[in-house]
Amino acid sequence: MLLDNHGRRITYLRLAVTDKCNLRCFYCMPEEGLNWLSRNELMTYEEMLRVCELLVKMGIDKIRITGGEPFVRKDIMQLLTALSKLDGLKELSLTTNGVLTAPHVAELKAIGVRSVNLSLDTLDAGRFFAITRRDEFANVMDTMHELLKHDIEVKINTVVMAGKNTQDIIPLVELTKELPVSVRFIEEMPFNGDGHSYSGALWDYVRIFDEIRNVYPDIQKIPDPLYSTAYNYQIPGHSGSIGIIAAYSRTFCGTCNRIRITPQGTLKNCLYDDGVLNIKDLMRDGKSNTSIVDSLRVAFNSREKDGWAAERKRKENPNFHESMATIGG
Ligand code: SAM
Repeated sequence: MLLDNHGRRITYLRLAVTDKCNLRCFYCMPEEGLNWLSRNELMTYEEMLRVCELLVKMGIDKIRITGGEPFVRKDIMQLLTALSKLDGLKELSLTTNGVLTAPHVAELKAIGVRSVNLSLDTLDAGRFFAITRRDEFANVMDTMHELLKHDIEVKINTVVMAGKNTQDIIPLVELTKELPVSVRFIEEMPFNGDGHSYSGALWDYVRIFDEIRNVYPDIQKIPDPLYSTAYNYQIPGHSGSIGIIAAYSRTFCGTCNRIRITPQGTLKNCLYDDGVLNIKDLMRDGKSNTSIVDSLRVAFNSREKDGWAAERKRKENPNFHESMATIGG
């Protein structure tokens, strides 16, 4: 069992395979994109597989592939297929914007992916364009239906942004009426890629819940799965469910079981820290597996208590220039 210095079990790795994305969500990165990492700065698939193998041996049993957009990286299915064969890995999943995903759904099902997080901030094609700066709404919806057709669990991730998509909260809740999807509303976080000012989540989890309860007063709390970052609810009679994720308020750190690895191989113990170890450098310096595992253990033994403590320790504090795309949101 892998434990951190606060006695929390670490079981879940989020691995960002690229910083590149085919959308330009205004809250994630500037319109012109980021200073993309060069090929040499990115971990290779072999390096990713090696570190995942080590982590699974140490106690990680769930890996989520994220980015950037995973399907923008060439041959991503090769990495997913190799990871799906790791002995000891119980769950392999991914987070995608759904633009290029639909053609791969049958293969995802075949390699054992049971759940996919699909990012979708609105059900209105015009607002989708305004938020993402790309005209791809139809492709995302195709991906959602393709996933459901293949019986893959769909969790829709919706970032709630004042003045942008709060009118979508109720239509998205209504999506759960007929479809067995879980729509998860997420507080906006300061990782917008250009350090523009951020004054906290104007729509925090309490306000999001109140908005839904005003329309659906019979909304019911349902049990939260172990390590869930969402408060989960259901409207009686609906086939799907609703989640609210206090990503900025950080109410869930006490049970945090997750670590992140960025596309350039930086280990993050917390979304809000600025990296605690570069694993790619260790591998390229020729370090043995034993030595890498030792370094990982040292890192896991110095995890901050919560996201507020991690944020205080950032060298770059308090102006975040990071994009969620480089840290595996
Ligand atoms: N491209 C994939 C996708 O769109 O799902 C994976 C990477 S994306 C960075 C992962 C998630 O982070 C998306 O659901 C996105 O909406 C969310 N995200 C990005 N920037 C965010 C921010 N500033 N606050 C909250 N969530 C953010």
